[in-house]
Amino acid sequence: MGQNQGFPPGTAYIDGAYRPMSEAKISVLDWGFLRSDATYDVVHVWKSRFFRLDRHIDRFLRSIDKLRMTLPVDREELTEILRQCVLRSGLRDAYVEMILTRGHSPDFSRDPRDAVNNFIAFAIPFGWIANEDQRRRGISMAIAETRRIPVDSVDPTVKNYHWLDLVAGMFEAYDRGAENVVLTDLAGTITEGPGFNIFAVRNGKPTTAGRGVLEGITRQTAIELCAELQIPVNIGTLTADALRGADEVFITSTAGGIMPVTRLDGAPIGDGAPGPLTARLTALYWAKHEDPDWTTPVGEP
Ligand SMILES: *Cc1c(COP(=O)(O)O)cnc(C)c1O
Repeated sequence: MGQNQGFPPGTAYIDGAYRPMSEAKISVLDWGFLRSDATYDVVHVWKSRFFRLDRHIDRFLRSIDKLRMTLPVDREELTEILRQCVLRSGLRDAYVEMILTRGHSPDFSRDPRDAVNNFIAFAIPFGWIANEDQRRRGISMAIAETRRIPVDSVDPTVKNYHWLDLVAGMFEAYDRGAENVVLTDLAGTITEGPGFNIFAVRNGKPTTAGRGVLEGITRQTAIELCAELQIPVNIGTLTADALRGADEVFITSTAGGIMPVTRLDGAPIGDGAPGPLTARLTALYWAKHEDPDWTTPVGEP
């Protein structure tokens, strides 16, 4: 029963200082909170090595540019802050988030150009989208009635906190006895779910959405792993029917890697067991966590 109750162990960088998670708080006036006017990225650390850190930082910096915000630190300083969060947390396996919010205007103007952008980072224990049981037997997924917000409204390639559609979808899934959810766009095409991309495999050939989604680093990693296996990936249109008729389905996320989906809207996918390509890619994905080309050691204080 300490002041840390309800907060995970971990370390945050906020207002220019390192603090325990229980003390990582932002102003209610921050437009990141009041307007979801923010971008973020999440990289993970496994056995004290960042996985594909450069890819995550590249995407974070691209997102910042697209939102016309300014990061108050340079790339090198950003990397050092992420490293310090992990080191100070003492975690060997960590979920490391970097955030830039619009902040707010010092004189309370409504003009976003007047805002002082607010940079926050933190490291908490590694988290999984699918629990151990779900990773072994496969996730039970629903396709939501709620549609993903159109790409012409919010650019999905900017990692963002516009999650009301995704959260509504999660409640729909729970109401229907499913464990997770995937949303379609206004045309009925499969997009993505809360924090993950999705692939359907048919006759050994994977397909994933080419637009209307965040271009996940794990999605890209799965595509690269398929290339190593000389398996071409169709990056294009994934219809709901193609998902239903797939031999195997998997999702990709920094929060857990490559994870099998074995039920869709109550019906089994393929034979209802995690598929062979999913298993192969998952094994390769974790093996890459020891590859110096794909990882960066957190290093010494
Ligand atoms: C973070 C996220 C993903 C997965 O991206 P990764 O870089 O693989 O973690 C997919 N969709 C959405 C909406 C996300 O926020």
